[in-house]
Amino acid sequence: MRSGSETASTPTSTVSDPHLSMIRRVHPRTPNGCEECLLLGTEWVHLRLCLTCGHVGCCDSSPLRHARAHAHAAGHPIVRSFEPGESWRWCYVDEQYV
Ligand SMILES: [Zn+2]
Ligand SMILES: [Zn+2]
Ligand SMILES: [Zn+2]
Repeated sequence: MRSGSETASTPTSTVSDPHLSMIRRVHPRTPNGCEECLLLGTEWVHLRLCLTCGHVGCCDSSPLRHARAHAHAAGHPIVRSFEPGESWRWCYVDEQYV
């Protein structure tokens, strides 16, 4: 029997960030966009999902950077990209991909 299929290459990180322990099974609280921007009526560029509580915030390229603000205000450093097709994670404390 031939099994020529290679395991799909999932981007795995080599770093082991201590904040990864804060990751919970979350559901996006505002799947339609940045929670604060939806309230304020402001624009965002990309979205980040807080992996501790499910907060959806906008990225550092967005004018108001709500994902970063949430990470520091709530103490939830680990986010995941909320963009379709993107699955990387980022730690706002260590400023690195995790
Ligand atoms: Zn970290
Ligand atoms: Zn925002
Ligand atoms: Zn959070």
